[in-house]
Amino acid sequence: MKHGRVTLCVMLACVATGCVTTPTVRGSGMQPSADIPTPAAIIGHEVGADYKLARWEKIVTYFDLLGRSSDRINVRRIGDTTEGNPYLLCEISSAETIARLDEYRALQARVADPRLIADPAERDRVELKAKTTIIVTCGLHSTEVAASQMSMELAYDLAVGNDPRTREILDNCIILLVPSANPDGHNKVIDWYEANLGTQYEGGRMPWLYQKYAGHDNNRDWFMLNLKETRLLTQVLYYEWHPTILYDIHQMGNRGPRFFVPPFFDPVNPNVDPLIHQSLLIIGGHMATELQERGKTGVVFKAIYDNWWQGGNRTTPYRHNVVGILTEAASAKIASPVFKEHGELRGGYRGMPDYSPAVNFPEPWPGGWWRLRDVVDYEKIACNALFTLAARYRDRFIANHMALSDKALRLGAEEPPYAWLIPPHQRDPGAAAHMLEILQLSGIEVHRATAPFKADGVEYPIDTFVMLAAQPYRNHLKDMMERQEYPERRQYPGGPAESPYDAAGWTLPLQMGVTAIEVAAPFDGLLERATDFATAPASPLAADIDGVTTWALKRSSNDDYRTANSLMADGEPLFILTSEFQNAPVGSLVVRLSSDKLAQRAYANLIPLSSMPDGDLIREMKPPRTALYQPWTSSMDEGWTRFVLEEFDFPYTTIHNAEVRAGNLGDRFDCIIVPSQSLNSILNGVSDKRMPPPYSGGIGLDGAMQLERFVQAGGTLVLMDSATELATDLYRVPVRNVLDDLPSDEFFCPGSLLRIRVDSSHPLGYGFGDEAAAYFRRSQAFVTGKAALQPGDRDDEPDDTAPPPMTDDEIEAKLAAQPVTTVARYSDNIVLLSGWILGEEHLRNRAAICEVEYGTGRIVLFGFRVQHRGQLHGTFKFLFNAIYGSTLDAQDKQ
Ligand SMILES: [Zn+2]
Repeated sequence: MKHGRVTLCVMLACVATGCVTTPTVRGSGMQPSADIPTPAAIIGHEVGADYKLARWEKIVTYFDLLGRSSDRINVRRIGDTTEGNPYLLCEISSAETIARLDEYRALQARVADPRLIADPAERDRVELKAKTTIIVTCGLHSTEVAASQMSMELAYDLAVGNDPRTREILDNCIILLVPSANPDGHNKVIDWYEANLGTQYEGGRMPWLYQKYAGHDNNRDWFMLNLKETRLLTQVLYYEWHPTILYDIHQMGNRGPRFFVPPFFDPVNPNVDPLIHQSLLIIGGHMATELQERGKTGVVFKAIYDNWWQGGNRTTPYRHNVVGILTEAASAKIASPVFKEHGELRGGYRGMPDYSPAVNFPEPWPGGWWRLRDVVDYEKIACNALFTLAARYRDRFIANHMALSDKALRLGAEEPPYAWLIPPHQRDPGAAAHMLEILQLSGIEVHRATAPFKADGVEYPIDTFVMLAAQPYRNHLKDMMERQEYPERRQYPGGPAESPYDAAGWTLPLQMGVTAIEVAAPFDGLLERATDFATAPASPLAADIDGVTTWALKRSSNDDYRTANSLMADGEPLFILTSEFQNAPVGSLVVRLSSDKLAQRAYANLIPLSSMPDGDLIREMKPPRTALYQPWTSSMDEGWTRFVLEEFDFPYTTIHNAEVRAGNLGDRFDCIIVPSQSLNSILNGVSDKRMPPPYSGGIGLDGAMQLERFVQAGGTLVLMDSATELATDLYRVPVRNVLDDLPSDEFFCPGSLLRIRVDSSHPLGYGFGDEAAAYFRRSQAFVTGKAALQPGDRDDEPDDTAPPPMTDDEIEAKLAAQPVTTVARYSDNIVLLSGWILGEEHLRNRAAICEVEYGTGRIVLFGFRVQHRGQLHGTFKFLFNAIYGSTLDAQDKQ
């Protein structure tokens, strides 16, 4: 191979950093198993009893006791959660293995990375000695309560069992049990459940998210690593234990099958190895067979859940050579039993059109009572079926894992792409650094060029970051860097689109606005393992700093806003350039920075200015007073918006329905943000039949009129994606969503990245280049002006509720009163960048972001998700600019 030197560097780096693990802390005072407490003895009731749930503190107490009393269990706190709860990892195996965990971790590191193996003799030793390492995660989705309760009983059985089956499991496996992957939500759900027991709301939904920022989306964060909990487990997966199998235990609704096991539904993803798919088949088959043997009916496979998407607790590990298992059990109403008549049970899912016997659903559950204990039983059987299979075929699981690691290294060295390059001089160096950091946290090896080099005939400078394809987690790297091409799938030929389970496209450099280059041919380069990811221009050179106190922030980097926010928080004045000055473009923020402050601004795009611009070239910016509307619908989009605001140090106030309705919003705020939510949901929220007051209901028409008053009096109302209906359908601004009435056999676009053209001369577009990638998820595309006010092409059906068409005079008057500016449009030619779109022509050249002048204020309509899941670093600036514009615009009016 051509890049021998590179390989050598990689080897050295791995020896230096690859096997670092946290020290094992053993509980003292091991006692005979007769002294091992049962879960009931500690939590005060049997696991899975009706209406009873053990809180997190009790579960922690139980596992601590178990760790102290059993030599088969090692309990570790691997960190704190977002809200300060302990995060537990329990290592379970035979006493002999538990006594030598460090040795087994080192063996497992070699299973995951054969470059650490010195010779064939060592390889034989690894294959012979390594145990099948299985990580089991419970309670990631906190309303899916059974698994965390079940985990205590599962661990107890393994701690005390001396039957041949338990011995076989303990002798051949290392089980890494995570009793809750989201302890914060565990207690929130129990609090809500207990508060509503015995009322009509028993077992009903909560008005807030069970993970502070993400709620259910905590299982969409596994490549982006925004959440503390995701990072804790990711460290265990790719740096500490490199498990061979991951089992993530979930629950679903209760109108259909009782239990889903793998394999999954189509489509398959090209970056998930076929050997992973076939391994899913034997594990799922083993689970399903044992469930059937024990009389557990209603088990389905190859339905509902697909294997395309990236970012899940099981799906990101696929790209790391881990066999990722998901099961989904039908839910009780939290811990309250439910009764289902046979006639209430339904099919209608992908792979399960009817509720009747089929090859993948051989014995439907007949109906009857369904209790928390049923869920516990199904899940425990599935766990033990997995453990037994993993123990019995230990040699095959280990050999297959090594084969996958070998294959990744071989393909990376033998076929294109050979590497991905992140050159210096990025538009947003902070986003580039962040991207490299999260890739590294997910196990990817990042190198830095120590000299200029040529790849594919192009010269790249020193300090270019290089990610070689020849690494064990190649599939993850490839999947993050390349464009997804989701296959066109219909429910039947020519029929409506068949929706993917989650996103269709997620290409990381597109999402984050980072320039990345794929290398198609082998190349030579002098590389070293990168330890920090500052891309030039990082902090200005010392020579630039000398004597300079005035700087311009170009706003091309998200960190420019963080810098500006921190200055405003310190009471420092902040100015905006109203015309070009020296090298700084219009819209740049002008700041005075002392050198110690400067040193903290690693990724801000600072331009030194030789003097303060004259007063007529700048205006001082008032710190914007921002409100974020939080509905009681546990909106994940609200949570992620909050996350992004906090990440970039934007101060904000959360407001609820009552505060919106109370009015006087202009006295308190310059900018109000409404996260993505339909008009109906904004107005009406959740019915009082399903949610107790004060959480039921929405802002109502009163609230909508208060928001309108706020805008008319000079405020900025920012509407995200579906929330734009408030402006288009209720305020009837001259903007209309052209996708509204399109059936999904004509137009369909699930989570995909689309190409937009940006007007960077408009204040909402400051800091952007000509193009960006927009995250479109059943989102909006607008016509504006006259076309928006005239009846749409599809409005040929008479509609009694629609207002009468406007006359030409009325249209002219409205357009004059509410002028619309289009700030970004979908491309007029190639629209799809990554994912899937059906009927692309419906989007071409349509408006994606509009600003409507309304009274003395304005409404900003974001037609797509500018901050989706905290991932779209490439489009966060639209939101930031809308917030900054809220005070600058007010000055325009003075
Ligand atoms: Zn779930």
